[in-house]
Amino acid sequence: MSTVPEPVPDSRPDALDPDALLAFFDGRGRDLPWRAARAGPWAVMVSEFMLQQTPVVRVLPVFGPWMERWPRPADLAADSPGDAVRAWGRLGYPRRALRLHATATAITIGHGGRVPSEISTLMALPGVGDYTARAIAAFAFGARTPVVDTNVRRVLSRAVRGLDSIREPATPADRRELESLLPPEPLVAARFSAAVMELGALVCTANNPACPDCPLRERCAWRAAGYPSVTARRPVQTWAGTDRQVRGRIMSFLRDSTHPVVPAAVDVVWPDADQRARCVTSLVRDGLAVRLPDGALTLPS
Ligand code: SF4
Repeated sequence: MSTVPEPVPDSRPDALDPDALLAFFDGRGRDLPWRAARAGPWAVMVSEFMLQQTPVVRVLPVFGPWMERWPRPADLAADSPGDAVRAWGRLGYPRRALRLHATATAITIGHGGRVPSEISTLMALPGVGDYTARAIAAFAFGARTPVVDTNVRRVLSRAVRGLDSIREPATPADRRELESLLPPEPLVAARFSAAVMELGALVCTANNPACPDCPLRERCAWRAAGYPSVTARRPVQTWAGTDRQVRGRIMSFLRDSTHPVVPAAVDVVWPDADQRARCVTSLVRDGLAVRLPDGALTLPS
């Protein structure tokens, strides 16, 4: 039996209507602390580190106390990496805390304590990749540069290309396409990028796009094509029983301990001794935990 191929939808480069997107962002964009006019580049940088792989609702309770304690890069650099890991709490992927501390130190030593604005200079800092550098350049300094996260990629794919998006990282082609659609004026382009990102987070969500409520609904190519589906989806990652879960438990135990702990004390966090030992070794290797000469474990100082 022959299968009928799905029609290829027409591309609609005019789907990302700047006026509609900016009006949406003005009216429905979330009032997030790193978007406040007084926030400044360091707040944007901290938020971008925290938002890598962690949703806004989990970042908010950590972001405020972090900025109160370390309002400038030099304040964070003056404290220990272990303090940063402890304050990171349960945001997950705690290597980001170490990298943010290392970046604060590099900014303090090499950039007079000020977050640099150039993308290439930002990318030379620890933990700052292409996406984070562009996000800081756009949202902190108003640069005209494409900022493509999974939310933006999904809106771009659906509204402009007429295709649903599998959850893959952004490609250079995505960035080139979005750049060609940015408004010419840099500050407007930066706000446009934030608006597309917000639309993907709030309206054009992965599983339940709220099309009747969407400012792009009249021009959206995916909607016009009748919502053709993608065939391949990434498998959902399991969490229970993984080394990530065990590492998280060990880190939580170390964060909650006011003194170094003897290795046997860590036994309570996970029953599998081999997996536990493997995870302790990897945490020490990653610099997230330190093994003292007597064998006790602690956070880095
Ligand atoms: S109309 Fe629907 S699919 Fe198209 S951009 Fe809006 S929410 Fe997404």
